[in-house]
Amino acid sequence: MILLGSTGSIGCNALKIARHFGTMIETLVAGRNITLLNEQIAQCSPKFVVIAQKSDVSKLQAKGAKVLFGSEGILEAISLSNSSLVLNALVGFIGLEPTLHSIALGKKVALANKESLVCGGWLVDTSKIIPVDSEHFSLWHLAQNHPIQRLCITASGGAFRDIPIESIPNQDAQSALKHPNWNMGKKITIDSASMVNKLLEVLEAFWLFGTKMIDAYIEKKSIIHALIGFADGSMSAHLAHPDMKLAISYALNPNLASKTALIPCLEFEDFASLRLERIDPRRYPLWALKDMLLAKPHLGIILNASNEVAVEGFLEGRYRFGKIAEIVSECIDHFSSIARPQTLEEILELDREVRGHVCKSLLDA
Ligand code: NDP
Repeated sequence: MILLGSTGSIGCNALKIARHFGTMIETLVAGRNITLLNEQIAQCSPKFVVIAQKSDVSKLQAKGAKVLFGSEGILEAISLSNSSLVLNALVGFIGLEPTLHSIALGKKVALANKESLVCGGWLVDTSKIIPVDSEHFSLWHLAQNHPIQRLCITASGGAFRDIPIESIPNQDAQSALKHPNWNMGKKITIDSASMVNKLLEVLEAFWLFGTKMIDAYIEKKSIIHALIGFADGSMSAHLAHPDMKLAISYALNPNLASKTALIPCLEFEDFASLRLERIDPRRYPLWALKDMLLAKPHLGIILNASNEVAVEGFLEGRYRFGKIAEIVSECIDHFSSIARPQTLEEILELDREVRGHVCKSLLDA
């Protein structure tokens, strides 16, 4: 397998499951956590290793692996690798090109990197995608070719779901990173607090399942992951303890996964305490963008780029939480009438333009 983002939250879980299933790791791709990557190289003996920056190459203990770096290095490593499965657990827009490249080479992509679909869903052959995002894995598990009428994914509500609404804009990164249920990377944890993660996932569900009848509700225990209303009038829900190992194991080996209890089974009594709650736009102002995004899904590029820049500045402590929503709303407003880019090059260009726009607005402010 080719593992993109091996040092991240999904990447580390994927390596545990690969070890459990005996899956060979041909290629490891990581960013700047060279210490952890060196440990992974020692354990997996990959043929190819890719890191973000050339300046870190000298710190690698490559043990005979061919070392590459940067975005071009990721694409080259995918081309050189024989593995037919790519698990894309990179965070952010950088994941789009590797997804498209892997599919073009005839490989299957186990996709955690939701940004690939949000920013270029219309260029992705989704028949080659195995969903790893927990809600989309649940939808896939439920759907099994039954005609779908509508979909619902759930949200935990993130770090600020229970604090007074008026105090939310003034929160800092340390508080926003305290996720109530999941242990994930920093970016997705902040996106859970702002509900941007659910906007990204609504678009991801649209590209994967081809319907705009998609809604989301808060389920505070993160035990119900998704529901489907079927054309026959029935509805099914998918329930499991919040643990990414389930979705990842199906992506790596569906036959073994269906027979292996990698996570403990729920008790039937657990069901009695579950509740779905509407997402309150006063607490999550960006949630109000959902219908517009479903009407013009290519605006996902604007949402993603503006949010990536906004979250980066927030994590660096340059402003408080409320600024993220201000930046994203202004950007969606500014670029709302833009036409859908037709090619990858046009997507890359628009992404650059949006990032430039946000940086300029922040400098001018
Ligand atoms: P993390 O931040 O924990 O991990 C991101 C990975 O990407 C790290 O290995 C990081 O390397 C690597 N990376 C970042 N930038 C570069 C770069 N320029 N070049 C090469 N590698 C890079 O993120 P998560 O694991 O939480 O999330 C990954 C994806 O999965 C996201 O799209 C997220 O939305 C999605 N997802 C995550 C879930 C979760 O439970 N975590 C659940 C569902 C979806 P390094 O750390 O070495 O810098």
